[in-house]
Amino acid sequence: MREYRTRSFWLETGEYGENPPLAGDVETDVAIVGGGFTGLMTAYFLKKLEPSLGVALLEGDVIGFGASGRNAGFSMTLFGFTMSLTALRFGRQKALEAHLYMEKAVDFVRDFVKEHAIDCDYEHPGFLRAATSKRYENRIRHEIDFAHSLGVRGIEWLENDVLAREVRSPLYFGAWWEPRCGILNPARLVRAEKKIVESAGVKVYERTPVSGIKRNGRISLRTEGGSVAAAKVVLATNAYSHLIPGLKRKQVPVFTHIVLSEPLAKTHFDEIGWRNRQGIEDARNLVHYYRLTADNRLLMGGRSVSVAWGRDMERDVNEKTFAGLERDARRTFPVLKDIRFTHRWGGPVSVPVDMTPAIGTLGDERIVYSLGCVGHGVSLSHLNGRTLAEMILGRKTERTEVFFVNRRTIPWPPEPIRFVLSKAIKGTLDLQDRICD
Ligand SMILES: Cc1cc2nc3c(=O)[nH]c(=O)nc-3n(C[C@H](O)[C@H](O)[C@H](O)COP(=O)(O)OP(=O)(O)OC[C@H]3O[C@@H](n4cnc5c(N)ncnc54)[C@H](O)[C@@H]3O)c2cc1C
Repeated sequence: MREYRTRSFWLETGEYGENPPLAGDVETDVAIVGGGFTGLMTAYFLKKLEPSLGVALLEGDVIGFGASGRNAGFSMTLFGFTMSLTALRFGRQKALEAHLYMEKAVDFVRDFVKEHAIDCDYEHPGFLRAATSKRYENRIRHEIDFAHSLGVRGIEWLENDVLAREVRSPLYFGAWWEPRCGILNPARLVRAEKKIVESAGVKVYERTPVSGIKRNGRISLRTEGGSVAAAKVVLATNAYSHLIPGLKRKQVPVFTHIVLSEPLAKTHFDEIGWRNRQGIEDARNLVHYYRLTADNRLLMGGRSVSVAWGRDMERDVNEKTFAGLERDARRTFPVLKDIRFTHRWGGPVSVPVDMTPAIGTLGDERIVYSLGCVGHGVSLSHLNGRTLAEMILGRKTERTEVFFVNRRTIPWPPEPIRFVLSKAIKGTLDLQDRICD
């Protein structure tokens, strides 16, 4: 049995009671595979839209074991890699459509937390994308101009003297400012979502990996201790989706890493500012992302990624990246030169070849899937839950008609080419970053 507490600071803290695994054969209307935000929110919306529906959710480890219990907790509007790249691949109108979907997703998370009075340290401090060189300043300004040219509002450039009134770093040249961004404790959120769906009547089984899917009259899911026969199935497996036949080539898991410091002292804030506690990223390809936790620890993630071979999903630890992140934290805020780092972890994000999320059907309309949230799935996975539920119920809505639903994905090649290609892409992104840094 895999230990989950060591997988993140969030999963380690707070009491958690696991549900027992599935034992025996059960029948239900809809079975959901995967107990992250996507799976739980699909369950939530299925029950909200059709309260009489039987819904069972099967999670291979525990709720939040995947990215949902390990992420940095930014609920943000970024879709895919960048807005301009989405436009390059799909056109300007679709890039705008994606951004508007993301705005709704961020607003939904904020409202949902409030409506259900979820204790997940939710704050809504806004988002800064800090330029850490002149080249990145140009990149960010170009992206802001591009957003404005699409008609996007609510994003502006902050000159460095204005930024310095908020957050001070010797690395900064100014920043993208976007008030629409929340930060939260993801494990608390995902665990609260489990309770909410259970109270609506959803059966949640943990330690229940699905090892086979068969289509008869119904769809049969095989697990170690039993089986589920369902009329419809949702594959909410995101970065694990390549382990499912049929989804194998649609995405690869890429691992991103985080370090967390001891709580900062008042004197540190005197130097840095950051009283308004914004979520911050830089503009590298392999971004740094950083924020404060509720108890004022510095969480610093990103910098590089680890690429996995084949079915390997255990690339959480990368000592070189951890050490680099600690160095980067001290470079960003020199006053933290003596700060101690207490936690290090990592987790998988789902990456399609074109770095764009994808929702679709597998074989026929009875099985739907969601994957490809890249590193920006906290808000997206919540609204996707609604989209998936609507698809399962056969409803046509503004969400089910969005361009990344039923889009054609570009297949990743089989191993060993997949590994070589993902390494090459990582190397190219990294090289560009070195030139721009
Ligand atoms: C370190 C890190 C930092 C991140 N930071 C951010 C951030 O700040 N903001 C942001 O927007 N996004 C961030 N992300 C991405 C975000 O966390 C994800 O996009 C989001 O959580 C995906 O949710 P999900 O439910 O789709 O997938 P997951 O949470 O990964 O859930 C999938 C679940 O499926 C289960 N599963 C897989 N296969 C099976 C099977 N066969 N049977 C049963 N269960 C199965 C897994 O155990 C897992 O629990 C980050 C990701 C990581 C790893």
